[in-house]
Amino acid sequence: MIDPSSKLSRRSLLAGMVAVPALAPAAVAAERPAARSAEEVQAALKDARDTKLVLLGTGGGPVPGRSRLMTSHVMLSHGAAYVLDCGMGVTNQYARTGIPFSALKSIFITHHHADHNIEYGPLLIVGWIQGMHPDVRAFGPPPLKQMTEDFMRAYRRTIDFWAEDFHMTPLGSVGVQEVTAAGPVTQDDNVKVSAVVVAHPPVKPALGYRFDFKDRSIAFSGDTAPSDAVVKIAKGADVLVHEVMYVPAVEKYVKDQIAKGRPVKYEPYMAHMKADHTPLEEVGRIANEAGVKTLVLSHVVPAIDSISDNTWRAGAATHFKGEIIVGKDLMVL
Ligand SMILES: [Zn+2]
Ligand SMILES: [Zn+2]
Repeated sequence: MIDPSSKLSRRSLLAGMVAVPALAPAAVAAERPAARSAEEVQAALKDARDTKLVLLGTGGGPVPGRSRLMTSHVMLSHGAAYVLDCGMGVTNQYARTGIPFSALKSIFITHHHADHNIEYGPLLIVGWIQGMHPDVRAFGPPPLKQMTEDFMRAYRRTIDFWAEDFHMTPLGSVGVQEVTAAGPVTQDDNVKVSAVVVAHPPVKPALGYRFDFKDRSIAFSGDTAPSDAVVKIAKGADVLVHEVMYVPAVEKYVKDQIAKGRPVKYEPYMAHMKADHTPLEEVGRIANEAGVKTLVLSHVVPAIDSISDNTWRAGAATHFKGEIIVGKDLMVL
C-alpha cells in the first residue's frame, strides 16, 4: 500500500496503479446522478446569488462520440462568465446553460492539446454572432496570440459577410494575454486568477489555475502527472477540479483499441499516460495534501460509462476524506 505521507514520487505513482483493483465494485455507496438537462441547468443558475461552476465537458482526450464531451467549464459570478478550456462542444454546452454570450468575460486555456483548445476559435466567432462583447479576453500559454490571429485571419471573410449582412461591427480580434509562468494572471471586480506550471510533457507550459472569487475559491489541475504545484495552488481551496485516470481501465482500453487495429503501441502509450496524467488514488492524496473541501473528478480517462461512480469515488476516497464529486457534463456546483 501507499504511505500517505510520502511525496508524489514515481514509485508511489506506480504503487497507486497496482493498488487499484481492476474494475472492482467499490464499497462506497453512492448513486449515479444523471447528466442534467439544459432546463435543469438553467433553473439551477437562474436565481443563483453565489458563484457557480458548471462542468460543460468532463471527458479526457480528443475523442468524439462519447457521452462525456471534451474538457470545458464555465464559472458564473455576479453575471460575469469565465470559461476554462475549450474542448469540442464548449459553445453548444455554454449555450445550454442559458448564460448569455454577452456575459462572457474571459476565456482561459490550460494547455495546447486539442481536447482543451480545439473549439476556442469557433467559440469566439459563434459567440460574437450571438452577442459576445468584443472586449472579451483570452489567457493561456503561447502561442495563443498567434493562434488567435491566425484563426481570425482564416475566418475573416466569414466574419465580414456576417457583419455586412446583419450590420454588425466585425469581430476584429480579442485581447490575448499569454501566460508563461506561475503567478498572478488577471484580476477584476469578481475574481483574482493565478496559475501554476504543471507536469504534462512534452507540452510546455501546461497550466493549472486558481480562481479566487469573493465567496469561493476554485482550483483546476489542468492535465498533469501528480504535481506538487497543484497541491500548492489548490491549498485550502473550496473546490479542486482534478484530472483523473483509472489505470486498470486505461490498460484494458488500450489493449482493446490495439486489437481493433488502432495504430498505437501498448508500451509507449502507457508510458505517455503515466508521465502525463494522474492515477485515481494520487488525486485523492493531492486533494488531501491541499486540504480542499470538495474534490471534483473530471477529465476522466478513460471516459467510458462502464466505470461506476462508486469505483471513481472509492479510489479517490482512499486518501481524501472530504466531499468527492464524480464530474458529469452540465453538473452545476
Ligand atoms: Zn486533456
Ligand atoms: Zn493534455
